[in-house]
Amino acid sequence: MLSINNLHATVADKPIINGLTLDVPAGEVHAIMGPNGAGKSTLSYVLTGREGYEVVDGTATLDGEDLLSLEPNERAAKGLFLSFQYPLEIPGVPALTFIRTAVNAQRKARGQDEISAPEFLKRARAVATSLKIDFDMLKRALNVGFSGGEKKRMEIFQMAMLEPRFLILDETDSGLDIDALRIVSEGVNAMRSPDRAMLVITHYQRLLDYIKPDRVHVLSAGRIVASGGPELAHELERDGYDKYVRAAA
Ligand code: ADP
Ligand code: MG
Ligand code: MG
Repeated sequence: MLSINNLHATVADKPIINGLTLDVPAGEVHAIMGPNGAGKSTLSYVLTGREGYEVVDGTATLDGEDLLSLEPNERAAKGLFLSFQYPLEIPGVPALTFIRTAVNAQRKARGQDEISAPEFLKRARAVATSLKIDFDMLKRALNVGFSGGEKKRMEIFQMAMLEPRFLILDETDSGLDIDALRIVSEGVNAMRSPDRAMLVITHYQRLLDYIKPDRVHVLSAGRIVASGGPELAHELERDGYDKYVRAAA
């Protein structure tokens, strides 16, 4: 599904991604762990096409199609989704209206017609039920006055409504209490499917107790320096990144 080969990228002319190679097959969840400043967030921005992130070498394909030549909205239309780190608050706009706008923008980029109101409501109700979200919450202004846990539920709801093919969660767990962590993990686990894949970027092993990865990779100095099963995350939690930072230096 996602295939990255010998990727090199710079930010403000500074090399940050230095020959990164990674394959995430459909149906799998891979975790990326690594020390602060290793380039984890840079990788997610390079993949989604954020401005200021220059690819200087290598390739990245989604389902065999070159990602790097596409505009950010075209990548989103292909089903690439990066979790939002800071939930937007939009006073006066009901959450459901906001999400319908996002769904229609995605459909437009895919060359599809707008979703009809009844069809949208039907899907929204089904997704809300599956994620245990109170439908009335979706009628309130997006995130305004929502608790931390409610904001997380809303984020998962948006994600599910957009039906991404490939999800990147970048330190979605930072600052979450155990309840919010459960909400996020349950939502993410509910979205696992044979034709979808995920990259879970985290600094801590804790999240991986809830979202069980098929593979764990260590990112250090802009490349993958070690890969293994879930036991690698436990080793990192116990021993830290020193060994891998030295190996990458
Ligand atoms: P991580 O997410 O692994 O903590 P980042 O990808 O955020 O690491 O950052 C990797 C490196 O890129 C860091 O050294 C950081 O200082 C540098 N960096 C990130 N953004 C910029 C920027 N806009 N300008 C210059 N350097 C940057
Ligand atoms: Mg960081
Ligand atoms: Mg980061």
